[in-house]
Amino acid sequence: MSYLVLARKYRPADFNAVVHQEHVTTTLKNAIELNRVAHAHIFTGPRGTGKTTIARILGKCMNCFNGPSPIPCENCRSCNEISSGSPSDIIEIDGASNNSVDQIREIRDNLVYKPVHSRYKIYIIDEVHMLSTAAFNALLKSLEEPPPHIIFLFATTEPHKIPVTILSRCQRHDLKRVPLGALSEHLAGLCKNENIDASMESLLNIASTAEGSVRDAMSLLDQAIASAPDNKITLEHINWLIGSSSFPVIKETLDSIFKADRKALINILAELYLSGKDLKIFYSDIANYLRHIIILKINGKEGNLCDISKDCKNELLEISMGLSPQYISRLLDITLKEESKIKYTENIRILMELLFLKLCEIPETKSLEKILVELEKLKASDPGEVYISESRKTEENKIEYKEPVHETDLPPVNVSTDKKQNLKTLSNEEIWLKILEKISKIKMAAGNLLKNNSRFLDFNNDTLKIKAVGSGYHISMLKKESSLIEKTASEIYGKEIRVEFDESFIDESLNKGFVNEKEKIFLQAESNPLVNAVKNKLKGKIIEERLIKNKRFKEE
Ligand SMILES: [Zn+2]
Repeated sequence: MSYLVLARKYRPADFNAVVHQEHVTTTLKNAIELNRVAHAHIFTGPRGTGKTTIARILGKCMNCFNGPSPIPCENCRSCNEISSGSPSDIIEIDGASNNSVDQIREIRDNLVYKPVHSRYKIYIIDEVHMLSTAAFNALLKSLEEPPPHIIFLFATTEPHKIPVTILSRCQRHDLKRVPLGALSEHLAGLCKNENIDASMESLLNIASTAEGSVRDAMSLLDQAIASAPDNKITLEHINWLIGSSSFPVIKETLDSIFKADRKALINILAELYLSGKDLKIFYSDIANYLRHIIILKINGKEGNLCDISKDCKNELLEISMGLSPQYISRLLDITLKEESKIKYTENIRILMELLFLKLCEIPETKSLEKILVELEKLKASDPGEVYISESRKTEENKIEYKEPVHETDLPPVNVSTDKKQNLKTLSNEEIWLKILEKISKIKMAAGNLLKNNSRFLDFNNDTLKIKAVGSGYHISMLKKESSLIEKTASEIYGKEIRVEFDESFIDESLNKGFVNEKEKIFLQAESNPLVNAVKNKLKGKIIEERLIKNKRFKEE
């Protein structure tokens, strides 16, 4: 006997064997049991989901000599005829090639004749949306009131092309795409029956490629079995068969896009091109996996909208951690905009290189989670915080030993090399702010004095130059705190620091605590929101302040 392909060998014989269309099969089984089967049904759904199969099973159930029964007997003449593929009372018509009005009229004229030996004469019209408008119209009257021995069963992938007048005369059943899990399990069952050793990843890959179509999945499995050595099917084998790139390559590509690593991307493309991979398939793989990441970010990895294994989900989430779904959506949007070009181009390698370079240009929008993680890091590297934790430690020690600890006994704050490195990224002004903050925590009055009457001037040769502002009284107060400033600065810098005061701004005439005219302008400028906005925007600092008088005002 010639070889029977899996799709035919394992074609479901009854409703219970249909994969993942229980919402349709249960309805039909109940209808048969209750003797309420409509005279016209339309089955819609993607290719290979079981539309024609269900129509045939319904025909078998209705015509079984021991029925009508939801489970056909498989022994009677009618059942045997249908199983062997030559039923006399089930007429299958391909709508695509029999779409003219004359052909439909012929069918219509034959409706009056009784079935050969069964209960019903059943017409199954596949791809019914291909019928012409005139053909549909010729069918209308018969569909409304057919002879009692007639049942119409229509199947279509495109129900929107069918006139509403036809749809409203039929009972409609929408078949679903078979989800990855159900389809791969179905394939695993087939492999077991066929004594094929197939890895679960390979079956998942087949199911994913089949996009929910049982027939496509079975055809691919057939092909895999025929080409697999020693009846063993691996993921690599399937990737090779469908010309797809392996997951590690896709992951590396996506990671390089996120990191804007142009060199790596060009190299990946070159390797794929030279190894003879189909870059069009690679392109759709990248688009699909970008979509997977968006879905994972929105839905979480427990959702079942991604046709990929758990390990792949985890790895995708890992490389895209901290990236916002909006950013990935933009990448996918740009990728999909190139689809029509990539489909028809002769220079796919160049187009792909261009696409990847374009994707690298997209600025990364940080997600809230990433900003929070960065804030946490910043908090951890804050020397002020370090000081608190250290002082807390000494307080604990105090309780433990029950001995008073003098300030001089405080252990020096060890700024780790890690912290020192963080310090390197800060400007001297920013470090000065940290010193101020820390001093405020130790002695609030000293902190306030420094905030009001001192400005950072310069840091050079381990010497911190501070501009003293205010009166002579203020400078004397500041000088009293110089040892505290030196100690705190030394701790933060992690080395011995000296402090020097620049007294040129001190105005003796302002002994009541007012700043001099020059400093007043400086303070005004510093507190001006516009100046601050400009300063922040340009990341600059105020070097010199000058009063520019309004000319018109002067004239007046
Ligand atoms: Zn039977």
